[in-house]
Amino acid sequence: MQKSIERIAGDSEGVSYEFPVFRFEGTDKAASSAYLQAALHAGELPGVVAIDALMPMLEKAEAEGRIKGNITVVPQANPIGRAQYHFGEHQGRFHLGTRTNFNRGFPLLAAPDVELLPDATLGTADQRLKTRLLQQSVGHDIVLDLHCDDEGLAYLYVQASLWSAMADCAAAMGVDAVILWDEDTDGTFEGASITPYLNLPAEVARFDRRVATTVEYRGILDVDGALAGADAEGLYRLLVARGVILDQALSTPGSFTGIVAPLENIDMMPAPRAGAVLYNVKPGDRVAKGALLATIVHAPGEAGGRTQVFAPQAGIILTRRSRRIIRAGEDLLKLVGDSKSADARSGTLED
Ligand SMILES: [Zn+2]
Repeated sequence: MQKSIERIAGDSEGVSYEFPVFRFEGTDKAASSAYLQAALHAGELPGVVAIDALMPMLEKAEAEGRIKGNITVVPQANPIGRAQYHFGEHQGRFHLGTRTNFNRGFPLLAAPDVELLPDATLGTADQRLKTRLLQQSVGHDIVLDLHCDDEGLAYLYVQASLWSAMADCAAAMGVDAVILWDEDTDGTFEGASITPYLNLPAEVARFDRRVATTVEYRGILDVDGALAGADAEGLYRLLVARGVILDQALSTPGSFTGIVAPLENIDMMPAPRAGAVLYNVKPGDRVAKGALLATIVHAPGEAGGRTQVFAPQAGIILTRRSRRIIRAGEDLLKLVGDSKSADARSGTLED
C-alpha cells in the first residue's frame, strides 16, 4: 500500500488543503479496479469510519497476495469542507465561497480520459478539489462515494441502466434500499463517474462490470464502531464478489431483497408550517396512504396550534430530519412510495 498526499491550492495567499490517498496495487491487470471515497460532504462521517475499519482488511489481503485489482482509497475527500465552520457549526455540504454543493458541479466528461478535465487553476478551490478527485477516480471499474443522510436507512443511489448488473453489490453491502435515477445534469460525483462511459460502445463501457453508486450510510449521527465494522464487511464482500480481492472463504452474495424504487416514487413531504416537528414515523416504517407522518407544533398552547401531515400514498419511510426545527416548505422526510409521487421533483439524486 502506498500513501500519497494530494494538495489543493486555496483561494488566497497562504491557504492550501491536503488529503491522503491510499493505493493498493493489484496483481492481475484484467481484474476490476475500485475507488472508494468518503466525506465529500465533509461532515458525513459514517463512511469515514467504515473505511477506517476496512483498511486493515485490505492490508491483510495485500500481505497475503490476494489483491487482484487496483484499489484507491480516499478516506476524507474534502479538506475544504472539513475546515468550514460558521459560528461554531460545521458547514460541510456547500462551499462557503461559491455556495456550491460539494457534490454538484463535477465536470461531466465525454470520455473516461483525465486529459479532458478542465484546467481549474484559475477556478475556485472547490473546483480544483473536484478535478483532483476525478483524476483519482476516473478509469476505475467500481466507484463508491460514501455519504449519509440526516436520519435514515442504509441505501444506494444507482443509475437505472447499471442496476441489473449491480444487484449483487447491494446484496453484498447489506443496504436496505436502492433508489434508481436516470439523468444527471447537475454533475454529482456519481454522475461524473458514469457519464464518460454513456456514449462509448458497450464492449468498452462494460456496464456489466461497471459499478458506481452514492452510498447513504444511514444518518449523520450513525458514527458507530459496530456499524462501521459491519459496513466495512459489506464493502469487503463487494470487492470480493467483483474479483478485486480474492477470498475463497466468502460465499457469493445472495439476491438483493431490499426496496428498489425509481427516484420519481419519492415523496419529499414539504412542511406546511414552520415549527417543532413531532414525528409519528421513523425510517423503515411502512405506512398506508393517509397515515399520520408528523405533527408540526406551530402555535404552542393555542387551539389549532398543531398541523398534521399525512402520507399521500403507501410506502416506506426512507429518511427523516435529524433536527426537529423546521421552516415552512422544508422537507420533513423521504417516503419511498409504492407508485410515482404526485409531485415528483425532477433532477437526480437528492444527496
Ligand atoms: Zn452527502
